[in-house]
This record gives sequence, structure tokens and C-alpha cells, in this order.
Amino acid sequence: MKILVVGSGGREHALSWSIAKSPLCEKLYCAPGNAGIAEVAECLPIKAEDLDGLVNFVQKNDIGFVVVGAEAQLVAGLVDRLETIGIPAFGPSAAAAQLEGSKGYMKDFCAKYNIPTAAYARFTDLAKAQAYLEEQGAPIVIKTDGLAAGKGVTVAMSMEEAKQALEEALSGRAFGDAGTEVVIEEFMQGEEVSFFVLTDGENYLPLASAQDHKRVGEGDTGPNTGGMGAYSPAPVLTAELEQQTLERLIKPTIEGMKSEGHPYKGVLFAGLMLTDQGPRLIEYNVRFGDPECQTLCLRLKSDLLPALIATAKGGLDKIDLEWHDETALLVVMAAKGYPGSYEKNTRIDGLEQANATTGVTVFHAGTARDSNGNLLATGGRVLGVTALGSDIRTAQKNAYQAVDQISWPDGICRRDIGWRELSR
Ligand code: ATP
Repeated sequence: MKILVVGSGGREHALSWSIAKSPLCEKLYCAPGNAGIAEVAECLPIKAEDLDGLVNFVQKNDIGFVVVGAEAQLVAGLVDRLETIGIPAFGPSAAAAQLEGSKGYMKDFCAKYNIPTAAYARFTDLAKAQAYLEEQGAPIVIKTDGLAAGKGVTVAMSMEEAKQALEEALSGRAFGDAGTEVVIEEFMQGEEVSFFVLTDGENYLPLASAQDHKRVGEGDTGPNTGGMGAYSPAPVLTAELEQQTLERLIKPTIEGMKSEGHPYKGVLFAGLMLTDQGPRLIEYNVRFGDPECQTLCLRLKSDLLPALIATAKGGLDKIDLEWHDETALLVVMAAKGYPGSYEKNTRIDGLEQANATTGVTVFHAGTARDSNGNLLATGGRVLGVTALGSDIRTAQKNAYQAVDQISWPDGICRRDIGWRELSR
């Protein structure tokens, strides 16, 4: 079967790397891909946002299955468009992708189906929102309704901060269309953990837990990023808490989406807060996490492709996945200045040595090759140095050993990935 992966990040590199190993995969394409993906797939000069270009390529090239990496294309309806031309694709329909695409939709859905999450209210009117804020007090959380690439959320510890976030969001200045509605949420106290489940709309298959590191600086300081590192599994999500998550959150979500007439097919990525009352939902994402996906792919022993196909076509109940017992830990190497402005096209060396380190695979995000074959950094997050180890300490040691093989004067990384688990 010919397969197309859509995207260009570390997540899509890991998915392509896994799919390329499958005996079911005759030929793998990726649009647009990156320098790492080019080692396992043919990269196409079609942007992920170019839905017409993608659909056209699929039709003309006898593609049998498409894997969509990022939420934007799911929310824009790429899977629906492929379905209308009879091509199965991994990822939810646009209607089901609203679970991530609209925080208001997600909160109303959770309220209707009794899924544990923070209490909330939705507003488009500033005066009404301010009145509610006064009533509730701080700490409190202000969220713009639509997709805002991780920048639409303010966890306000003071009323002043909350008022400012609210004004900025509802004035429509800060986030354009994504910010003309806000959700104001109860502040939940606890530890965060991510949990990934595949579902074909009827059956589900739990994958694994992970924890990421959102802040750019060590000790979880500085501005938020797309994620500076991750590890899987996250032992903080014990077997008992995992069971509670499946019973109280995942099952009612799958059932609920079915009754809404939008059965959810794809990966359900639950961002959980482990509170005194058990796991509560912070958010749903409708795609794999980046960088969590890379740690999951490295830990997976079985062929991923049949599971992705069964997710799209049904029959997940017949799929069994085997995992390595080891922990996987990933360190992101980013361009100096990220998540602010940074230089592009700086040169990176030493990847071969890094990849030769015990248990290590380096996944690429923003990379390209120049005409001489040199590796260049072309984005903010650039490499995901991912290592397996018998425990988190060993995985961390292996990952940093590989990081130290990489020569990139313009790159930075956190030196403390895994600290939370290691300090327990
Ligand atoms: P965007 O929509 O802008 O892309 P996002 O989807 O990343 O952002 P959330 O995951 O909902 O937004 O929130 C971002 C972070 O804010 C969470 O990872 C968590 O740390 C914190 N947060 C969100 N909601 C709450 C809450 N109710 N209580 C405490 N912390 C919260």
C-alpha cells in the first residue's frame, strides 16, 4: 500500500519512521516532510495547509492511506475530504476535531456527558465576563475559544492578570477569530500527565502515558513552548488512575461523540490534571503530541501501521500492541532564541555519532539539507534526541550522551528533562 503522511515536525518523523518499517508499506510519501523524514520517505513540495494539493496528489498517485499529523488540517476537514473520495485517513472528521478546535465545544460536551473537568462559563461579552470573574476570584484560568497554538491560555494567579487577559482576548486584538469567545475556568491543582488512546469510534486501545516539559527554561521556567522534552511512560499515572481515566473520561467521550452523530476516530490525547478527586480533563487534543509521539513510537515493538488503519476503518478490537519495557526520554534541541525570534539556516553536525549512541534515535523537526548535503536548522524546535533506557535515569543518560555528540553552536536544550520523575 502507498501511504502519505502529512506534516513536517518531529511527530511526523516518528510516525514516518514507524510506518516505513511496516511490511504493509510499499511506498511512503510525506508532505512536506523534513531532512530526517527524507531518509525514510519521499518528501513532496506540498504544504500541509494545501488541502487541494494534498487531495489532488492522493487521487493521482494511488495512495491507499493517509496519516494526518497536526490538528489544523483535521479541523479544516482534510479527513472528510479524503473520505468523500474513498481514501481512508488516520484522524477525526472536522466535526469530531472540535473537541480540540473549540474549547467551548469541548466544555459543553464534557458537561453533557458528565466527564470530570474544571467548572467553566463561556463569554463573548466583556462586561458579563468581568462580572463572572469578580464573582469567582483568582486563581482562575482564561482561555480563548479557538486554536491559538498554545498561546491562548492564561493561568491567572491574581485578579489583575485575569482582567488583563480577558480584555486582551475579548477585544479581538490578541487572537483574531480564535479569541472572540473566551472560556473562564476553575483553576485545578495537581500534576499534569498526558494519556493517549486510539479509537475507531466503537472500540478503543490504550497506548501509553507521557509527561512533557512546556517551558523553555530549566526547572520549568520561562515562556511556554511547543514542548522541550518528554518521557514515557509517566509512572505518576498508576494502573489505577489509568483505569479511572478510561472509565470516567475515555469511554463516555467515545460514547458521547457517537450519540452526537460525530463518532470519534483517531488518537484521543487527554491532557489530565491528577487532582485530589482523581484525574480531571484539562483538554483533549485530536492528534498525537509532539514530542510525546516520538517517545511512544520508540517504545512500540509492534507494527504501528495496522493499528492506524484499524483506527480509521474499524476493527481496533482485533489489534494488540506490544511495548518495550524500557522508558523513552526525549530532549528537544531548539534554535537559540526560541520561542522568540531565532536565526535560520545554521549548521548542525554530529548526527551520525548521536544516532550511534546506545538506544538513541534522533527525530528531526525543523531541518533541511543544503546543496552540499549539510544539515541546517530551519525552525524553532529542530531535533528530538530520543533514547530508550532500562529506567528513566538510564534513558536520560543515553539521551544527553547523544546530545553531547551534536555540534550546533546555535542550538539550545534543557539539561533537566525528566526532573520531576527523577526527584520522586
Ligand atoms: P491553545 O488552545 O492556545 O493551543 P492549549 O490547548 O495548550 O492552548 P490548554 O492545554 O487547555 O491549552 O492549557 C494550557 C496549560 O494551561 C495546561 O497545560 C495547564 O498547565 C494550564 N491549564 C489549563 N487549564 C487549567 C485549569 N483549569 N487549571 C489549571 N491549569 C490549567
